[in-house]
Amino acid sequence: MSTHSIPQEVARRRTFAIISHPDAGKTTLTEKLLLFAGAIQIAGSVKARKASRHASSDWMEIEKQRGISVASSVMQMEYRDCVINLLDTPGHQDFSEDTYRVLTAVDAALMVIDAANGVEPQTIRLLQVCRARNTPIITFINKMDREVQEPLDLLAEIESHLGMDAVPFSWPVGMGKSFGGVFDIRRNRMRIFRAGQQRRNNDEDIIDGLDNPEISRRFGSAFDKAKEEIDLLQDAAPAFEHEAFLAGKQTPVFFGSAINNFGVQEVLDTLVEWAPKPGARQALQRVVQPDETKFSGVVFKVQANMDPAHRDRVAFVRVSSGRFERGMRLKVSRTGKEIRPNNVVSFLSQRRDLLDEAYAGDVIGIPNHGVLQLGDVLTEGETLQFTGLPFFAPELFQGVEVKDPLRTKQLRTGLTQLGEEGAIQVFRPQAAGGALLLGAVGQLQFEVVAHRLKTEYGADARMIPSRYTMARWVTSENPKALKKFIDSNAAHIAYDVVDALAFLITSPAQLRVAQELNPEINFHAMREHG
Ligand code: GDP
Repeated sequence: MSTHSIPQEVARRRTFAIISHPDAGKTTLTEKLLLFAGAIQIAGSVKARKASRHASSDWMEIEKQRGISVASSVMQMEYRDCVINLLDTPGHQDFSEDTYRVLTAVDAALMVIDAANGVEPQTIRLLQVCRARNTPIITFINKMDREVQEPLDLLAEIESHLGMDAVPFSWPVGMGKSFGGVFDIRRNRMRIFRAGQQRRNNDEDIIDGLDNPEISRRFGSAFDKAKEEIDLLQDAAPAFEHEAFLAGKQTPVFFGSAINNFGVQEVLDTLVEWAPKPGARQALQRVVQPDETKFSGVVFKVQANMDPAHRDRVAFVRVSSGRFERGMRLKVSRTGKEIRPNNVVSFLSQRRDLLDEAYAGDVIGIPNHGVLQLGDVLTEGETLQFTGLPFFAPELFQGVEVKDPLRTKQLRTGLTQLGEEGAIQVFRPQAAGGALLLGAVGQLQFEVVAHRLKTEYGADARMIPSRYTMARWVTSENPKALKKFIDSNAAHIAYDVVDALAFLITSPAQLRVAQELNPEINFHAMREHG
């Protein structure tokens, strides 16, 4: 068992998600972070997972890889006496509501940007969630070894998309073939770039001082330009303030090249020095402090495991307080049921003793057969409920019908359960005779649901194209205004699994018009569970 006290263990935890648009370099950076933290054997497995990922969009293929992806979607490493938990957010086809919910389980986010492409759509969606929760964000601008956008332009783009100040900690000298390295603004020294993947940062060239003639001799006009930009920034850009970063109002920005191991160490150091330790969480009943002696944790993600026929699932639990030990008795607040997890899924870690106990900020995976649902709270006996597990308005819609009408009941049961589990959102149109409507944020969700309906519920479903592209949950202080809205939009009204009222929309213009015509109606892009 750990020789540290619970408060000491909490203080050394850093839990963050890594977010990016596909191909920006997230996998590469993840590997390098693990490499620099000394978990070299893990680095290979990240790559292996990526290589085998989605050669086809066949659900069974994906299913086969579940075992690997469960293990590598949370990675734990130790660096400078901190325990760092890195939560992966899948991109592309994997993209689903789970991705959003992962962001509710972290205390900070690392955003990777491809310096040639700037801030891309997938990143923007994830950033909106971070912004809504004021999650502190560290920015890594990758691929400086290529011909990329002007750094000042990138900075401006980040600021406009994030709605927060971007404060460069480092500044690039040149780019592409003439990439000379980065100037560490805060330490007033330049780190010289050398291509290559084997080298670690400790055998690196460093030249002190922005006015050092050696730098300008070696890097000529690229350095003159960088120096001018740094001078400009020092006058115009705000100084870094730790409080502003923690409040999600400033993001420290680093430039580098993940594939060349360049700039990676700075990111790790920033996580350790500036990123927050796990904080207090507000439950309905009371505030839960991370260093309380009693264990509590929340299920933020449920992943179907290898064998869907047996309803095998892994519930991902973020520890909120206390100490988790293998084999301890836990109570599920929603049902009052007791569970005693012995075979918790161990996430990759360098040190064995980290696997057997967990503290606030850590993630444990509990295999179960449907006992644990999204949003469930586990405690040593106390009843606790947390709000704030968000459901996001879907962006993709399909109608669903059962092929054999005699299986209608199975379809309904399956959809209710899958909806409660958070695998997909199910809307029941108000209009009589309307087919049930499925809403998702990622295309893969439809495939998973069709597959599970068939294998787990015996309902062969047919998906029907839908004209809807958006949905908003609607509320109003004024019951009359709400009734009028429902009556005049009857064809677009639907109810979700918890009977919350939703407005189905075909275009952004339709939403704008509805907002203008109905000032007393609130249109929500997010609904909180709990
Ligand atoms: P992900 O989809 O965000 O996980 O991206 P990957 O880590 O798989 O990287 C996408 C591609 O960019 C791969 O071919 C990487 O080798 C390449 N890449 C990653 N980092 C760098 C870098 O610093 N410079 C260059 N030139 N290429 C990079």
